[in-house]
Amino acid sequence: MMNPSFAMTLTLAGILVANLLTKLWLNSRQVRHVARHRDQVPAAFADTIGLDAHQKAADYTLAKARVNLVDLALDAFTLVGWTLLGGLDALNQLTLNWLDEGMSQQVALVVGFALIGGLIGLPLSLYQTFGIEQRFGFNHTTPKLWLSDVLKGLLVGMVLGLPILWLVLWLMQAGGPLWWIYTWAALVLYQLFVMWIAPNVIMPLFNKFTPLEDATLKARVTALMQRAGFTAKGFFVMDGSRRSAHSNAFFTGFGAAKRVVFFDTLLAQLNGDEMEAVLAHELGHFKHRHILKMMATSFATSLAGLALLGWISQQIWFYTGLGVMPNLDGNNSALALLLFMLVLPLFTFFVSPLSARRSRQFEFEADAYAVAHSEGKALASALLKLYQDNASTLTPDPWYVAFYYSHPPASQRLARMAA
Ligand SMILES: [Zn+2]
Repeated sequence: MMNPSFAMTLTLAGILVANLLTKLWLNSRQVRHVARHRDQVPAAFADTIGLDAHQKAADYTLAKARVNLVDLALDAFTLVGWTLLGGLDALNQLTLNWLDEGMSQQVALVVGFALIGGLIGLPLSLYQTFGIEQRFGFNHTTPKLWLSDVLKGLLVGMVLGLPILWLVLWLMQAGGPLWWIYTWAALVLYQLFVMWIAPNVIMPLFNKFTPLEDATLKARVTALMQRAGFTAKGFFVMDGSRRSAHSNAFFTGFGAAKRVVFFDTLLAQLNGDEMEAVLAHELGHFKHRHILKMMATSFATSLAGLALLGWISQQIWFYTGLGVMPNLDGNNSALALLLFMLVLPLFTFFVSPLSARRSRQFEFEADAYAVAHSEGKALASALLKLYQDNASTLTPDPWYVAFYYSHPPASQRLARMAA
């Protein structure tokens, strides 16, 4: 029989190669598909989208695909560096030399890992904002704002993240054989707590929210919400234009405390009919309980994941096969957690088409709701404007869509609405 540790190493190598090949294949399909359709606006959009806008969307998509290649390579190197090349093992030894075995060493290991990961990703994130987004005219972030965002994010991450990290590591160590169930309950409560405080505590740290002043629009959206049987605590405008020209609208908060938030960029681009239609689409998500359904799925899968972690963290081959020497009589919670989070996405990637498909299904349902409760034509023209303003390609590769798109391509949404 094969040594289980070696089997784990082989599994990692195999799944990593499978990931890389699949992602390269998807990326090259997307590039070829978009490039091939670059010189002609699809017939269905010939009257509404100009060739300039179509080509800009194609070039933007191609530029992002090139960065995606760098990102793929970087991810693979980082993964192998942490595992088989001994990075995580070295960091573990380093923190052990520096701190005694115990909770603080465990926390330090995870924090050190997260900080190094953040540093590795920094150049690419800089290039995305100040290279690509800038070149296509979307970036409004100044270097100063960017830096303050990074620092604030770090601070928020520490204030919110350290207590739950400490709790999870403590439960793993002291919670007995059923620690993973307690951890799951703690994580669920924590996530609900963060969702509850986000609109009033976290989001105002990064953006300004001002009450919607446009009285006509306010009257329209209030009437729409009453028609659909909703109450909202208020309508707000968010200064999204401080960072980017991309636009959006969303809900925050629970139950009767729901707030409707419009990006200022959206208000600038859409007329009253179109705003109403976009809001009706968002209401459709509520009416069909999409957010609850997504949360239920995420809670169920995290329970399954934690059960798996509960078992696999007891197996020595899990550590040695991934390039780490476990502390035989000590605490391996942080190592188990980090290895698990590194390796798991390689496996879940292959089921991502299922969740992406479900998400696109939800978009169709929300569109249908909007068509029934507002002006269908207005939704269609709003969507076209949004796709155009965000330079989303009208001609994505179908396989790429299947894996990555949470929203259906414009052509499919418009075709469904018309039908
Ligand atoms: Zn939607």
